[in-house]
Amino acid sequence: MHTDLVAALDIGGTKIAGALVDGRGSILVRAQRATPAQEDGDTVMRAVEEVLGDLAGSPLWGRATALGIGSAGPVDASAGTVSPVNVPGWRGYPLVERARAAAGGLPAELIGDGVAITAAEHWQGAARGHDNALCMVVSTGVGGGLVLDGRLHPGPTGNAGHIGHISVDLDGDPCPCGSRGCVERIASGPNIARRALENGWRPGPDGDASAAAVAAAARAGDAVAVASFERAARALAAGIAATATLVEIDIAVIGGGVGKAGDVLLEPLRKALGDYATLSFVRRLAVAPAQMGTDAGLVGAAAAALAGRAAPTTAAGV
Ligand SMILES: [Zn+2]
Repeated sequence: MHTDLVAALDIGGTKIAGALVDGRGSILVRAQRATPAQEDGDTVMRAVEEVLGDLAGSPLWGRATALGIGSAGPVDASAGTVSPVNVPGWRGYPLVERARAAAGGLPAELIGDGVAITAAEHWQGAARGHDNALCMVVSTGVGGGLVLDGRLHPGPTGNAGHIGHISVDLDGDPCPCGSRGCVERIASGPNIARRALENGWRPGPDGDASAAAVAAAARAGDAVAVASFERAARALAAGIAATATLVEIDIAVIGGGVGKAGDVLLEPLRKALGDYATLSFVRRLAVAPAQMGTDAGLVGAAAAALAGRAAPTTAAGV
């Protein structure tokens, strides 16, 4: 029998997706449950077990040799535990041990969801061929991950590259993480919408007050909407420039729902990078939209499993 597949899990606050994935990143079998995010930890785990049970029911299951898990964070890959902000029932929850048991003992690799998306973009998407990259998800929150020297860099606990919670405004608004002026506090979708509303923007007849609606207004020339995206773009640019200056990335990939705003975000972002990324070695930094879409988390978790299978002591090598 071939042993050429890996199982992958993408665990978020809304849904738990699972797949069997081949060595080229193609998804062959899928399973999914809603995340019972407000229930107790074991109830959430049962949904994960059901997803794995569905995968195990496939005739292809016997070909899977490893399990990759991308989870909303924070995660602790060294301890095998997760504490997702949006799943309160899981605090220091032993996800790796429980998932391994439900997957028949397959070796498991755990990474944060931002790192998973980075693995996917580096393997098959906008960061392919780049040895030093920052990939970001700009959505309800802001997350990210790093590729350094051609390899995924998850860090000891699997959270490296979490750009959403570096401060770009020293005396800025308090962030739910405990710090102040974080990139996420300025650039996430809800914060873009909040700032637009505070400054007098009003939703149209459909009542849609989301960041996507603000983006549509900005595209139509609404000055307040444009300004809210420009502020988000400056926060992202400052964070990207700091990252580039520290570790010399050559591309920043922007994904997530807010990333879909396109030029409304990317144009002021590229302009603001000119203000913050000023030293000679960061001036050529490129900014590109993500390419991987909704399967990025699954494909990235699969990449981590494949890399872990190749080198059992490390998640690097993607
Ligand atoms: Zn924060």
